[in-house]
Amino acid sequence: MPDTMSIAGSGDLIDRLRSVVGRRHVLTGRGQTARYSTGYRSGGGDVAAVVRPGSLIEQWRAFRLCIAADHIVIVQAANTGLTGGSTPAGQYDRPVVIISTLRVRGVLPILDGTQVICLAGSTLYELERRLAPLEREPHSVIGSSCIGASVVGGVCNNSGGALVQRGPAYTEYALYAQAQADGTVVLRNHLGVELGDRPEEVLERLEAGNFSDAQVVTGQQAASSAGSYGSVVRAIDEDSPARFNADPSRLFEASGSAGKLMVLAVRLDTFPKAARGTVYYIGTNDPAELNVIRRRILADSPVLPVSGEYIHREAFDIAERYGKDTFAAIRLLGTDRLPLLFRVKDWIDRVGKALPGVPRHLSDRLLQLTSALLPSHLPQRLREYRDRFEHHLILKVADEGMDFTRRLLAERFPSATGDVFECTLGEAESAMLHRFAVAGAAIRYRAVHDDQVEDVVAIDVALRRNDEDWFERLPEELNRHIVAKLYYGHFFCHVFHQDYLIRKGVDPIALEHRMLDLLDRRGAEYPAEHNVGHLYAAKPVLAAHYRKLDPGNRVNPGIGQLSRDRNWGQDAESPIHDDDG
Ligand SMILES: Cc1cc2nc3c(=O)[nH]c(=O)nc-3n(C[C@H](O)[C@H](O)[C@H](O)COP(=O)(O)OP(=O)(O)OC[C@H]3O[C@@H](n4cnc5c(N)ncnc54)[C@H](O)[C@@H]3O)c2cc1C
Repeated sequence: MPDTMSIAGSGDLIDRLRSVVGRRHVLTGRGQTARYSTGYRSGGGDVAAVVRPGSLIEQWRAFRLCIAADHIVIVQAANTGLTGGSTPAGQYDRPVVIISTLRVRGVLPILDGTQVICLAGSTLYELERRLAPLEREPHSVIGSSCIGASVVGGVCNNSGGALVQRGPAYTEYALYAQAQADGTVVLRNHLGVELGDRPEEVLERLEAGNFSDAQVVTGQQAASSAGSYGSVVRAIDEDSPARFNADPSRLFEASGSAGKLMVLAVRLDTFPKAARGTVYYIGTNDPAELNVIRRRILADSPVLPVSGEYIHREAFDIAERYGKDTFAAIRLLGTDRLPLLFRVKDWIDRVGKALPGVPRHLSDRLLQLTSALLPSHLPQRLREYRDRFEHHLILKVADEGMDFTRRLLAERFPSATGDVFECTLGEAESAMLHRFAVAGAAIRYRAVHDDQVEDVVAIDVALRRNDEDWFERLPEELNRHIVAKLYYGHFFCHVFHQDYLIRKGVDPIALEHRMLDLLDRRGAEYPAEHNVGHLYAAKPVLAAHYRKLDPGNRVNPGIGQLSRDRNWGQDAESPIHDDDG
């Protein structure tokens, strides 16, 4: 379905966008656009406009207009990405427009709810709620599910998350618009649903749910989840990581596309809800003890655990202090109100910035002061384990995995170095919320101690599946430049998040390079699940994926620290080969 259209110059683009999505949904000026053009943890830059389409057709039309006007497009969903991949960074050779998809909502269960089609802005939270009455669950649960992360953002980032059985967000079924090198735009319906031939007919019918299962193509070889992941993660003697962003087997059209296409919808598997489950809290002072449990369960349990989340004591402590209000907000207000709180927080910061004499990070400082007044929030048994043990694992098992795990843990604990208890419902919820709160705690720490901390270096790493020596011990010459280290992650996948608060006056980039060198020597892959954004260099296989999807480098240029130039800095006429790195 090729599409050609031309607009002379770019002066009237904003007016044209307004006529497509309505005046209110084209934002211009820093005051209005800052929330969209600034990354959650890092990144930010100037934009000509932010466009918020309210339907698939508006999204498609806005994209065509921007590409035809030779503007760079950055497609953004919930903007919870941690590596700046959904926001601009620095300077570009063309003006930038962000297309924010959050108003394009819609979750359409198909084939008796065994699969689902999610429109560009639908969230994981919405998907979970839509599937609950069908006794089904989504493909992913990630830390940011409860702050509004989208389904499509997850697929575009190959996001991972807590679920050991499911692996990264992945599908070969997607409906997307692709910008060609010459500035035309093509709609590709690879959803496996017959919706007609004309682009706008396809979009209209999909959004209206105007099709039945008879139009859904089944029995194809295409995958709608990372189906083989169970056997990959169980291969504990393999000398390579189980999952990481540049894994060539997880790069397919929308999957891992990181904004190099404009995805309108994806089709994904859903999963039966576990009938019953148990959560164990394990503490140990010997990291090898946790690895024995990991290896035994992955090798021998009849069913993989649901999740196994790791927290180191230092991360526990920092999250207890600097993540207390996040914990309290989710507990008291529920996850559906969190995106609103983030908007209020953002508004406070913008007002603070405009007022003379007000310190930076006003909202963080106010929240930190308030949270000091809140009562202690962690259950007694978790606090006792914090005092006794350095390493903590929150292990959730279900169905046929329960007996195996109970026997294994009873055999091994208590030991000379570790112990375990079975959580009550309240303890399980608190432990998981506390683990979730770690992800934002380092940022809060940096905000309120900006006199001591230069920056946060956040490394997202996948270790080799056979790596016994999984817990990092940095040499003293690096340690002395670090105020605190937060280690946490998805233990059974051997995916770890390592946030380092770098001492004031130290060059964070130079230090990061030295830490990455150490990880290279250990055969690790990074990033594991947060994707390259503007923080990591894309490896050749990922760079080739991006160049193939976006031959003119018209969307999200510069991602993976690659060329920002139109046509990748080459003549439009020169061919771009798939294997160009
Ligand atoms: C507290 C917290 C915890 C987190 N925990 C995890 C975790 O456990 N595991 C994990 O993997 N990640 C985690 N993340 C990172 C982040 O939430 C994920 O990467 C998430 O999948 C991003 O979803 P999003 O909707 O915010 O996408 P965005 O950040 O808006 O976008 C992500 C990427 O997808 C692209 N994109 C989005 N929509 C489209 C579209 N329609 N078409 C084309 N490209 C598009 C963007 O250009 C960008 O490159 C966490 C983040 C936070 C803040």
